[in-house]
Amino acid sequence: MLIDSYGRAIDYLRISVTDRCNFHCVYCDPPTDRPARRARVPESTLKFDTFARIARVAATLGVRKIKITGGEPLLYQDIVPLVERLAITPGILDLSITTNGSRLEGLARPLFQAGLRRINLSIDSLRPERFFRMTHGGDLDATLRGFELARELGFQVKINTVALDGWNADELSDFVSFAETRGVEVRFIEFMPLCGPGWSPGLFVSATAMRDRIRRDHALAPIEADGVATRFATARGGRIGFITTMSDPFCDGCRRMRLTAWGTLRPCLFSAREVDLRPLLANGDDALREAFQRAAAEKPRRNAVLAGQEDPNRLDIRSVGG
Ligand code: SAM
Ligand code: SF4
Repeated sequence: MLIDSYGRAIDYLRISVTDRCNFHCVYCDPPTDRPARRARVPESTLKFDTFARIARVAATLGVRKIKITGGEPLLYQDIVPLVERLAITPGILDLSITTNGSRLEGLARPLFQAGLRRINLSIDSLRPERFFRMTHGGDLDATLRGFELARELGFQVKINTVALDGWNADELSDFVSFAETRGVEVRFIEFMPLCGPGWSPGLFVSATAMRDRIRRDHALAPIEADGVATRFATARGGRIGFITTMSDPFCDGCRRMRLTAWGTLRPCLFSAREVDLRPLLANGDDALREAFQRAAAEKPRRNAVLAGQEDPNRLDIRSVGG
């Protein structure tokens, strides 16, 4: 088992398969951070069988849940064979992917055939022109076509929406109506300082403020929390959740570790601490197991950015994997 220094059992691995992305969302990839990121991030990413091997080792240590992320994971050229391998990894009970959906229409079927059943789809606006501006070029119709096909095929789809004042905070109730009519859960995420100089406290909307805005149009009744999301049902059968990373951090219950696209283990999204697996890849699996244990021992107790102990300019969600 992977137990960290504060007694938290780690059973959830997020794998970033690429830091590349075809979108440049305002809260994730601001142009001001790009030169610094190019300096931070190595060019080469791991081969799919190496990701699969590391996942297999993690499963022997008690990891039961894997999320594939990025960057945009559907740009990774071996995404389908990787999913195929992860889906049959002994011990892995829950496999999902987080995507911007731009390539989902073409890949939903092969991904389903490869064994994927759960998708988190990021959509920050339901208005095509605003979606285009928030993503710097994204096509809402293409993402929605991917969404509809995924649902038809039988995927369980959840929508992720980062709420930003002055951008999409006036659309929260529209997203709730979308959840109701489409029968999907929408999760509203608080903006986090993980985009270098793109962070701006003026854009931040707390989960409490989001809830208050939504309650003007929709009655909300609390339902069982799910992992890190506080959840509510609406009178018309919609389901929504709030990820309160900033206003009510869930560090005490954090069971996650992250694998970067280039092969380092990051025990916390809000810390640049990492354990490099690359020099160990030529050795046997025991060396990798030992590296996972070291990474667990390095997991900070709390969000070091909120505690003022980490420089957020050294971090970015897009490279490490959201
Ligand atoms: N490209 C994929 C996507 O957009 O779903 C996967 C990677 S993206 C980094 C994963 C998630 O992180 C997305 O839901 C995105 O909205 C979220 N995210 C990115 N930057 C964020 C930030 N600064 N604060 C909060 N969430 C953020
Ligand atoms: Fe790309 Fe996802 Fe970041 Fe948007 S949130 S820029 S889609 S990695």
